Amino acid sequence: MARIAVVGAGIAGLSCARSLRNAGHAVRVFEKSRGAGGRMSTRRTDHGSYDHGAQYFTVRDPSFRAAVDQWLAQDLVAPYAGRIVRLQQGEALPLSHSEQRYVATPGMNAVCRGLSAELEVEFECQITAVTPGESGWRLSWEEGGESGFDAVVLAIPPAQAAPLCAAVPDLAAQVRQGGHAPCWAAMVRYDAPLPLEFDAAFVEDEVIGWVMRDASRPGRAPGERWVLHANAEWSKAHLENSAETVAPLLIDAFRAEAGFDAEAVETRAHRWRFALSAGLKAGSFWDAGRRIGVCGDWCADGRIEGAYLSGTELAAKLLSAF
Ligand SMILES: Cc1cc2nc3c(=O)[nH]c(=O)nc-3n(C[C@H](O)[C@H](O)[C@H](O)COP(=O)(O)OP(=O)(O)OC[C@H]3O[C@@H](n4cnc5c(N)ncnc54)[C@H](O)[C@@H]3O)c2cc1C
Repeated sequence: MARIAVVGAGIAGLSCARSLRNAGHAVRVFEKSRGAGGRMSTRRTDHGSYDHGAQYFTVRDPSFRAAVDQWLAQDLVAPYAGRIVRLQQGEALPLSHSEQRYVATPGMNAVCRGLSAELEVEFECQITAVTPGESGWRLSWEEGGESGFDAVVLAIPPAQAAPLCAAVPDLAAQVRQGGHAPCWAAMVRYDAPLPLEFDAAFVEDEVIGWVMRDASRPGRAPGERWVLHANAEWSKAHLENSAETVAPLLIDAFRAEAGFDAEAVETRAHRWRFALSAGLKAGSFWDAGRRIGVCGDWCADGRIEGAYLSGTELAAKLLSAF
């Protein structure tokens, strides 16, 4: 039985950790936030929740299909049946291509919470260094650290992973090939249903790229809550602006594109510095000699499915090494 540290409790880290634990290894997960989910997070408010990161996922790979079938049976996910359109200069147009979309229930973080249920996870523990020693890898955090790990998995974005694998220059160089575009998200509540003929839209606009009515998904509290995502270019140009100045700009763009007059009664914004990645299509990276690897959406295709598969693929590499 090997002692393995996994840094990051997003879907990649948790799918990796689950596979390793199921094979009998002693796995500890370290996560800087208060809960599991990463970019599949859910923000709770007094008036219902918002999934301010990923909004849905699709399924193409057979092994991911098998995992999703299990989550469907456990009521952790459900098919999405909302009306999705393409919003272009105020006109709602049908999508040219349609595929089944799924959402986690009751919030997007449900899948990661389910995956983390039987794992040993240290929350609110940001790993600041990963260093080799005589008794295996040592992980350090602000108030302390722990030695003696036989292997380390970094399931975090490349900008955060690169400094942590600096002791293995070849791996760090591969990590630096990856990257993410940022995304500003606004969470907006209206006091009455908006007069719109859609629940979600890909928006062709200078500011926003995507909007979704939160309660159009199964398991959500009723209410007119919308999540608006700025497009990557706009998000990059306004990355260092404050949340207070960004939220009204996204809301105005939504109102202009969708053509309604209602005023928002509650707004907040969240900056995702590392949001979306084109993905390196490499699956995962593993240094068999030093026993350290990296996984995540950016190693694969930049989506939830890719992140999950990146984690299970890296776990398979570790299992063949031990
Ligand atoms: C706005 C937005 C919209 C999206 N829309 C979609 C979509 O519609 N469909 C889709 O499939 N995908 C979508 N995605 C992408 C999807 O969310 C990601 O592909 C997937 O969630 C990535 O999972 P991950 O485990 O690789 O990384 P993450 O979810 O980022 O997990 C990494 C975890 O590591 C933690 N961490 C980082 N550094 C440290 C450290 N030093 N110590 C400890 N913990 C650390 C972080 O807190 C985080 O929890 C979207 C993402 C965003 C942001």
